[in-house]
Amino acid sequence: MSSSARAHKIGSLLFCPHCGTLLDLPKMNEDTVTCDQCGHLEPSSSYNDIKIVTRSHPDAFPSVLRQKRKTQTQTSGDALLRVKEKCPACGCNDALAKELQLRSADEGSTILYTCAECKHRWTVNN
Ligand SMILES: [Zn+2]
Ligand SMILES: [Zn+2]
Repeated sequence: MSSSARAHKIGSLLFCPHCGTLLDLPKMNEDTVTCDQCGHLEPSSSYNDIKIVTRSHPDAFPSVLRQKRKTQTQTSGDALLRVKEKCPACGCNDALAKELQLRSADEGSTILYTCAECKHRWTVNN
């Protein structure tokens, strides 16, 4: 494996550099985090500097993720919204949506989806 791709960071979240899936936090005794979708291994060390990362790289978010999916879902505030969104993990059409306030207003917003069935999480940009 010579891939040097590292996860994309948005706020305190890490996203798989290959498929854009939101990565879980590393477990206490593990030094890598595995992407649910494509099996990408992200070193836990990627999380070490996450607390000091601010929005110094607004363009770091890959464009492929920006255009990935459009959603017609409207969210208000921090309320979780039950939506018909297909889970990429289990394929069910039942998810909870939450708007993340991680990006400046003129850049739009990021929606965090949580599958109601398998609790898989992923994000979509508006
Ligand atoms: Zn992946
Ligand atoms: Zn699911």
